[in-house]
Amino acid sequence: MMPYLTDVRQSPTLDAAAVLLADAWGPALAASYRLGWHDGHRRGHAAAEADMAASWHDLWLHVQATMRSPRHAELIERRRLTHDPCPARCGRCSACIHAEHAAANLARYGRPDYPGATR
Ligand SMILES: [Zn+2]
Repeated sequence: MMPYLTDVRQSPTLDAAAVLLADAWGPALAASYRLGWHDGHRRGHAAAEADMAASWHDLWLHVQATMRSPRHAELIERRRLTHDPCPARCGRCSACIHAEHAAANLARYGRPDYPGATR
């Protein structure tokens, strides 16, 4: 056996220290828990506020993009098939090329589309 350990275990100073430690353990643990809870609460609150700000910013960007995009009626109007050239009458864009050929087909076949076209 090791006499050193036996002496320490039976030391009155160590016994008193153990009692003091046991008495202080509960309040120290409770205080540490409260401190940790407040720290965690503050950090969690800050993280939630940052997350909410980021979400609001994303929503703002989404609303901006949505408000800039054309509405359904505008899209339908833009995609409506006409046989008219573009307002600038450039002669090079698809609307002008289509108008030129539609006029030629009207004169030649009496209809804007080539005979047999499936549209
Ligand atoms: Zn054009």
